[in-house]
Amino acid sequence: TPRVFSGIQPSGGLTLGNYLGAMKRFVTMQDAGTHETIYCMVDLHAITARLVPADELIHNTRELCAGFIAVGIDPEKSVLINQSQVPEHAQLAWIFNCVARMGWMGRMTQWKDKAGKNAEAASLGLFAYPALMAADILVYHATHVPVGEDQKQHLELTRDIAAKFNHDYGVDFFPITEPVIEGAATRVMNLQDGTKKMSKSDPSDKTRINLTDSADEIAKKIRKAKTDPDPLPEALEGLETRPEARNLVNIYAALADIDPQAVLDQHAGGLFGQFKMALADLAVDKLAPISTEMTRLMADPAEIDRILGRGAERAREITVPILDRTYDIVGMLRS
Ligand code: ATP
Ligand code: MG
Repeated sequence: TPRVFSGIQPSGGLTLGNYLGAMKRFVTMQDAGTHETIYCMVDLHAITARLVPADELIHNTRELCAGFIAVGIDPEKSVLINQSQVPEHAQLAWIFNCVARMGWMGRMTQWKDKAGKNAEAASLGLFAYPALMAADILVYHATHVPVGEDQKQHLELTRDIAAKFNHDYGVDFFPITEPVIEGAATRVMNLQDGTKKMSKSDPSDKTRINLTDSADEIAKKIRKAKTDPDPLPEALEGLETRPEARNLVNIYAALADIDPQAVLDQHAGGLFGQFKMALADLAVDKLAPISTEMTRLMADPAEIDRILGRGAERAREITVPILDRTYDIVGMLRS
């Protein structure tokens, strides 16, 4: 069976962007039963942008695990893991640090965005981020990777790393993985700036909807989301120069599991304020059960730790032999 891998950073609380762009599809792919699914909290990635107190990282990792389960990931059906508990990710990443080229990494838009103007002060880990991500995927020989649109470039780099490794060692070992970027909300935008993506690490909480927000907070953030005063148009072309309006239509479509055009069919011509109210109701409807379930799961951290411990054992049945074969190919002496 083909294998699916994807990860999320415990770098803050989960957002609507993470849910619609990635996690909803994690669940679909798990439930389809056609793939072996492996989902990961990538704590090693979460310290690349900034170091946080240990208890904060642990809390975020457990909360992320609760989020995975609350949206519908079943730790019996999927392998659910925390990255640092499966050491082969980091071990393969070192090899990939030596396969990837500085020039490739320097062209990554996430690196440029996150390093900002002062790249000299960014961590080496932030620069190497995509090589660790390639290792996360390839240490399972995963063939399909569901992600949001912002990760497309990193997945192309993953393919480049696999191809260069295979070529340089004259082997056909690592698969060339396929990104799975689908749906109406592959890039959910920042609620205050329609040109930036919604991110869990954005310093301003008004820019995003968190899966743990209360009904009141969700309604308020949607009401205050930046928009223009015009009503919704009848056709999607009418949204081309209106990124904020387009974003809210896409969010509605993804939450309701309908096409963006169907959203316009229902709401064209109406006042924008009314559309926002309908969107807030829909969002609360879909997100409140997730938030409730997360709170319930977070009351028993020992159970979360047990689930992740069991996940790591299952994961290592796959990763240990693949790392072993990689070391053989590279010529790492073991006795
Ligand atoms: P950070 O700001 O720390 O990078 P993030 O919100 O970007 O956090 P990640 O952990 O980097 O979250 O990404 C997890 C998954 O969520 C990835 O598949 C990514 O493509 C997806 N994703 C993140 N933001 C969005 C978004 N705004 N729209 C759609 N998908 C998104
Ligand atoms: Mg991100």
